[in-house]
Amino acid sequence: MRYQLDAQQQQFKQEVETFLADALPKDIAAKVKAGAGVSKQELAQWTRILNDRGWAAPHWPQEYGGCGWNLVQRHIFDVACRAAHAPQLSGFGFNMVGPAIAKFGSEEQKQFFLPKIRSAELWFCQGYSEPGAGSDLAGVATRADRNGDDYIINGQKIWTSGAEDADWIFALVRTNHDVQKQKGISFVLFDLSSPGVSVEPLYAFNGKRLWNQVFFEDVRVPISQRLGEEDKGWTVAKSLLGDERLLVSRVSENKRILSIVDEVVAAMVQRGVELPQSMRQKRLQLDVRLQALEMTSLRILTEADAGGQIGAEPSMLKLKGSELVQDQDALLFELIDYLSLPLDRKRVEHGFTAPAWSEYVASGRYHHRGYTIAGGSSEVQHNIIAKQVLGL
Ligand SMILES: Cc1cc2nc3c(=O)[nH]c(=O)nc-3n(C[C@H](O)[C@H](O)[C@H](O)COP(=O)(O)OP(=O)(O)OC[C@H]3O[C@@H](n4cnc5c(N)ncnc54)[C@H](O)[C@@H]3O)c2cc1C
Repeated sequence: MRYQLDAQQQQFKQEVETFLADALPKDIAAKVKAGAGVSKQELAQWTRILNDRGWAAPHWPQEYGGCGWNLVQRHIFDVACRAAHAPQLSGFGFNMVGPAIAKFGSEEQKQFFLPKIRSAELWFCQGYSEPGAGSDLAGVATRADRNGDDYIINGQKIWTSGAEDADWIFALVRTNHDVQKQKGISFVLFDLSSPGVSVEPLYAFNGKRLWNQVFFEDVRVPISQRLGEEDKGWTVAKSLLGDERLLVSRVSENKRILSIVDEVVAAMVQRGVELPQSMRQKRLQLDVRLQALEMTSLRILTEADAGGQIGAEPSMLKLKGSELVQDQDALLFELIDYLSLPLDRKRVEHGFTAPAWSEYVASGRYHHRGYTIAGGSSEVQHNIIAKQVLGL
């Protein structure tokens, strides 16, 4: 069984692919393909191009620059962008705090933040996790105490991705200590250059700066920079992703990795290296899992577009999609190992060298390790499925 795009969806896909072929700068796509990472300037350039077409924030309400696409269209757009090696815009601004401001913000907040986020003029990072609050996020201890028209913020965030590039942070802080944990949290936005904020790097074991710790010492934040009501930050945090929660299957990314697997295989075949049967079988199994994942995603997105209720589906999609990324990385690693066997003299004499993307594969694999942890670990997703689907 296959999920077939209907004629309108096919036409939309074509439109997106044509746009990408014309508008995506080749040098940026080449960098993304090589896994080299793009600069803030290059990302701003791509954001400008998308804005000119009206596609930088397609999922935002139309009055703030959205274009009214449904979830299936967004899936098609995402897959096409990844296949063309377009860089991804900052998820913290475009996918998280932007829609939250559109939903919970005052008119003044909307007017100030939304155009700046959409033009990539203002970058956000996410200050949720703390040393004592990860899976159990309601345990946040960073405190915000009222002082006149301001909050005074003290505490610490950890695993803050991208804080080194961000201008502002959206953070969960405790404003009430005398109520049930979830009920005393507020959602605040503030400038990372405020006095009392310090950002310290955390490096992954391959030496890349993947995260930060962010410390707050008597940071003065105007109460007007709170999003939503005081002590109701949990509601804002929970709704942060809204329907976005369904776009977590990483189908587009999985397709991109599978295409790299196939490039490696093609390079092997070209060099006369026969692919071992075990690896061929693994590649086929991954492909079948990917097809099943995409079909399931599209079925669920179609149901949601038609107004269906969302239950544990986001957990299932996240679990399967993130596990698949990691299993594909493992095969890619195995293949490259096999292709690069450094001590095989005969191979070296025949001109075998490590493929250009070997480095990307290694750093990608380390980075992707976090996929089954960030945004709710696999164990936590299993708990949700056990409770909501199996009734355990
Ligand atoms: C790549 C990456 C990027 C991140 N970026 C950000 C960011 O930008 N901003 C931010 O705020 N945070 C970020 N995080 C942090 C992330 O949200 C937390 O790591 C995650 O919520 C888990 O929390 P923890 O690390 O404290 O682990 P813990 O919650 O301490 O969990 C430790 C282990 O116990 C298991 N466990 C916990 N509770 C249960 C349970 N009830 N049942 C069964 N098992 C359980 C977990 O699955 C895990 O294996 C990022 C994490 C990663 C990996």
